[in-house]
Amino acid sequence: MIYLDYNASAPIAKEVLDTIIQVMSTQVGNADSRTHEYGANSMSIVQQARESAARLFNVKPSQVIFTSGATESNNLAIQGLRKYGLQQDKKHIIVSSIEHKSVLETAKAMAQEGFDVEIINPDPNGRIDVQTILDALRENTLVVALMHVNNETGIIQPVDQLGQELKKRNVLFLVDATQSSGKLVEEIQHLDYDFLTFSAHKLQGPQGIGGLILKNEKPISPIMHGGHQERGFRPGTTPVALAAGLGKACELALSHYKENQAKVKDLKAAVLQILDESKVKYVLNGDPDHCVDSMINVSFYGVSSEALMIMLKGICAISNGSACTSDEYTLSYVLKAMNLPDSQIEDAVRISWGPDTSKDDLVEAMKQICQIASNFQ
Ligand code: PMP
Repeated sequence: MIYLDYNASAPIAKEVLDTIIQVMSTQVGNADSRTHEYGANSMSIVQQARESAARLFNVKPSQVIFTSGATESNNLAIQGLRKYGLQQDKKHIIVSSIEHKSVLETAKAMAQEGFDVEIINPDPNGRIDVQTILDALRENTLVVALMHVNNETGIIQPVDQLGQELKKRNVLFLVDATQSSGKLVEEIQHLDYDFLTFSAHKLQGPQGIGGLILKNEKPISPIMHGGHQERGFRPGTTPVALAAGLGKACELALSHYKENQAKVKDLKAAVLQILDESKVKYVLNGDPDHCVDSMINVSFYGVSSEALMIMLKGICAISNGSACTSDEYTLSYVLKAMNLPDSQIEDAVRISWGPDTSKDDLVEAMKQICQIASNFQ
């Protein structure tokens, strides 16, 4: 059985796990305890983790706010603008229709409170057009949210160009970088944005912690109330060991991203070669020229993804759609937004891997996938 669902969650790296175990088994302090050295030791671990994250994203440590993950970060970035939006009479929010649910549902909740949410569709290749967003801007636009890499298709969105344009126009910009952090490292380091969100478990860190990079903190108010942790933006005891794990994952990503990129690229070439050489009839969903190298979204014609996955039980773990919407099968809203035919969406599966995926195992799994799919055709 090979795990090929890295976009849902990537396996934790061994050094990260070792760090977490070491910190969890030796540190008892609350990082915010001022009165003894147990607290000070924990705080120093948290601060080191913050510095590691800051180095990966090329920001100041004070701009890194730890949260429970990208879902919370997206909520904090969007709902955190409620007060500012009302004060400034800016109630127009632009989001793409292919955002993760943690952006879309939060925007919907804001709409119920009187904000005016405008949703922009991608082209059939899965890309959002910058000019369409710029044309939608209004005097009262509060924020634009566009993800860096889509979790279902792997399509890289033009956040660099959009960021530059929004900066010129003084419009707040939220980038969900959950699927690109630790991968498109240099691209993120040079982006213009106000808020950027990520989850540690997508870059081989632990589940349950992530961050919000707050380059522009003035308009943001906390959405939870409590202690003064994370400079008041996110109250609650900081999970010291998870923070240490996140920091280690960021360090590893920063020092290895070039070789990791080369590895996943080589794996993708192998995957595409097997698809080409097999008899199976397929189509890749989303523009292959703008797709990350760590995944494909593919439809095998006439082969329902649900049936294929049943046949693949015990062989490999893949998915159809995001884990966050997969308790029951519904047609992917991302592929629907791309205007693909329903039959192509029903047949779509996402296969995603990482730098530590064994090439032999991946090749073997791909051969079996193609064999089983072509038996259905
Ligand atoms: N945004 C994107 C693009 C994602 O892929 C995910 C996770 N599937 C999230 C946000 C939410 O991350 P988490 O579940 O760790 O909060």
